[in-house]
Amino acid sequence: MATAKKISPVSVRACRICRASFGGDTFTAREMMLGTRDSFEYWECSECGCVQIVDVPANLSDYYSRSYFSLKPYRRRIRTRLRSLIDRRRVRHAFGAEDSLGKLGNRYLKPLDYVEWCRFAQVGTEARVLDVGCGAGKLPLRMKIGGFKECAGVDPHIEADIDYPFGVRIYKKDITELAAESPGEFDLIMFHHSLEHVPNPHAAMEAARRLLAPEGKVLVRIPVAGSYAWRRYGENWVQLDPPRHLWLPTVDSMHRLATANGFSLARARYDSTSLQFIGSELYQRNIALNASRKEKNIFSAKLLRRFEDSARRLNEDADGDQAIFVLNAV
Ligand SMILES: [Zn+2]
Repeated sequence: MATAKKISPVSVRACRICRASFGGDTFTAREMMLGTRDSFEYWECSECGCVQIVDVPANLSDYYSRSYFSLKPYRRRIRTRLRSLIDRRRVRHAFGAEDSLGKLGNRYLKPLDYVEWCRFAQVGTEARVLDVGCGAGKLPLRMKIGGFKECAGVDPHIEADIDYPFGVRIYKKDITELAAESPGEFDLIMFHHSLEHVPNPHAAMEAARRLLAPEGKVLVRIPVAGSYAWRRYGENWVQLDPPRHLWLPTVDSMHRLATANGFSLARARYDSTSLQFIGSELYQRNIALNASRKEKNIFSAKLLRRFEDSARRLNEDADGDQAIFVLNAV
């Protein structure tokens, strides 16, 4: 990692993933999503490559703007009746049932993200699903409407437990608390860009293992350190996202995290986007992600297309800056 500015070494620290003691240099990175430009110290583990914040700031919650994700219950319908019906038929068809309406929907409408994730994790609609760090729980609600058997969510930051129709419950809890109450109750546990916000990844994975039924699976979508965008942009890499992202694993880190907590790392697929270039290029020019449209309008249409093509190529080469990991309970 050539671009980051080096500052004084930290004496005694251990990697949050592999527990290797730390002996290298740290670098500073700035909060650029909201654009406060506050500085934070990060370091890269020389053993597993995990990039992580040195000290979790005491006022971390100040860096989650109210619009960061939706924490209030959805009052209105997520889906119209017609849309719900079409979703259910599409899911049926996607999982192997003959369904002509579902087939048409799958051919002509935007792919259902959760169908792709579940097929990748090799779980079907009979799975009992838990979404960790789900905010107000839109995804579990959509999956239930789509025909999954049982869907729930857990997020410590919502105002209170939420009970939606169809038995979809969103718990205001930490995953470790839920694990103590409901061991073995889920077949698929998902972390969609939430695990890197958790200060103790081992505790979260251990809790996930307890919550899973035998043969259960965990799906983790997360930024990947060591990837091209990290190597190219260093402290300006958009997915570093200081101080909200507390640690960013390499594939090796994910492998170690899995095996240390009773899982095997079964599959990985890269799903990075052009944001790895757009965001990082903005940060290099000292432009925040939430700057005005006019301020951010610095890329030609041709360059934006190149960013898209590059992201696609990096994903094919297993070098994109985010991935989907499937962990099997062993
Ligand atoms: Zn490490």
